[in-house]
Amino acid sequence: MSPTERLAQLFSDFPGIGRRQARRFVYFLLSKDRTFLKELASTLQNIQDEVLQCQHCYRFYTKDKSSSPLCPICADEHTDHTIMLVIEKDVDFENIKKTDTHAGRYFVLGGSVPILEQDPTKKIRALELIAETKRAAKDDGLKEIIVALSANPEGENTTQYLKKTLEPLADKLGIKISVLGRGLSTGTELEYSDSDTLAHALKNRG
Ligand SMILES: [Zn+2]
Repeated sequence: MSPTERLAQLFSDFPGIGRRQARRFVYFLLSKDRTFLKELASTLQNIQDEVLQCQHCYRFYTKDKSSSPLCPICADEHTDHTIMLVIEKDVDFENIKKTDTHAGRYFVLGGSVPILEQDPTKKIRALELIAETKRAAKDDGLKEIIVALSANPEGENTTQYLKKTLEPLADKLGIKISVLGRGLSTGTELEYSDSDTLAHALKNRG
């Protein structure tokens, strides 16, 4: 395989990128000067050393001097650790953070559960969420889990699966499970929601 074909193959693994677009990326890179390519290559090389994944919420964060195994939100004593917002992916965190309506902590599922999926634990961090719920109940006095997923069929399916999976444990530990209010119109992807819609959905959870 030629280097251009190999690079196109790598790009086509990216979410939402097809073969045609992958080839456009390759030709775009070939048209750039060496400085740009060098910077891109070194950024890619460093990203795994400089970006860590939080041991509690699984969010990616930039390593600082403290080399803490927890992200700034999980490590912050001002965070309301009794409320945990369960989101699908890291970009959702950035959107919700902007709305300034959630003072609690997060948990990143890392995906969603397709309808008819046989083994949801392969698609989302369901087992990790159970483990983290137990830990947070014991160490941080966790009181509420808010499931904040997209209002599309796959998001709904994931929400139902999580409720079913978490309910026995939540009942035992005295934790309330709530779901984002219907402020989000059906079919809405969380990452495209504006701040007002999200704030409204958070306030009207139930
Ligand atoms: Zn964290």
